[in-house]
Amino acid sequence: MLASLIFTVAVAAAAAEPPQAPPVRELASGVYLQPGGFLPGRGPDGNSVMFDGPDGLVVIDTGRHVWHSDALIAFARARQRPIAAIVNTHWHLDHSSGNGRLKAAFPNARLYTTSAIDRVIGPGGFLTRNLEGARSMAGTEMEPVQREEVQIFIDTMEHSGALRPDVVLDRSQRIRIGGRRFDVHVTDRAVTDADVWLYDRRSRIAVIGDLVTLPAPFFETACPERWRAALDEVWATPFTLAIPGHGEPMTRDQFALWRSAYGAFIDCAHGESAASACAAAWSRDIAPFTAGDARAQRMAPQMAEYYVGYLRENGGKSPDCLAS
Ligand SMILES: [Zn+2]
Repeated sequence: MLASLIFTVAVAAAAAEPPQAPPVRELASGVYLQPGGFLPGRGPDGNSVMFDGPDGLVVIDTGRHVWHSDALIAFARARQRPIAAIVNTHWHLDHSSGNGRLKAAFPNARLYTTSAIDRVIGPGGFLTRNLEGARSMAGTEMEPVQREEVQIFIDTMEHSGALRPDVVLDRSQRIRIGGRRFDVHVTDRAVTDADVWLYDRRSRIAVIGDLVTLPAPFFETACPERWRAALDEVWATPFTLAIPGHGEPMTRDQFALWRSAYGAFIDCAHGESAASACAAAWSRDIAPFTAGDARAQRMAPQMAEYYVGYLRENGGKSPDCLAS
């Protein structure tokens, strides 16, 4: 009985279609969005943005899952354009696990990101600590999807060289990447120790990584006050479209709305109000973004309430934030 049950489950799993990445969308001439995703039971994939430059495609962030990175590779192949460069906005693995797969397909692609990755994969670093947890989990009983997610993380960490920059972005500057000029901005501690965001003058598109996410900001490695300053810096550029790390592209008005919701949320988390009140205010403030998305509407207050507790327990910031 048990054997046949296992067999049935195995067959069902094998027969299930692998998830598909959402279709690529053109944002402006020569600028494309590969939307990320957030499937039940799985970790998220961040959005990827592709700029067609003189030397080939410049791919901003590479997702976590194979179907996301495969879609980026398929897009490049279909357009007969090499991937000339990869930029990681930050080292969170929902934005960088695909690096190795893109480089295997396009060995000349060079990775541009900050050196913050070196601290988190070093002794005692954030990812090193999580890897210990994942390895001990791998020996226990898990749902197949969960096991797959843990294995993706372990595989990425076992090839962590693909997360390290070929070209270190250690300061804000105007530089050519893949032959195309970008205004590259490097934050001094926001979502992580150092985040990259880019402004493209030609399209007036800003690619801002996890400085903006829905249904809530992710604070696991964050310095919330520095983050607020980074949002002000984004606002100061004349962008017309901002591409967040997760969620839909935003107009200036939408970005302004998210930025003020973020500020109010941090003020609330630093204050005396009940965590549930901060979470309710957050959900109300960002309601225009979650309209029609029942799952996002459910998750927004849950995540926000969790993060208020998290921030309060850790002096208003992540324990991995080194800023005062
Ligand atoms: Zn992310």
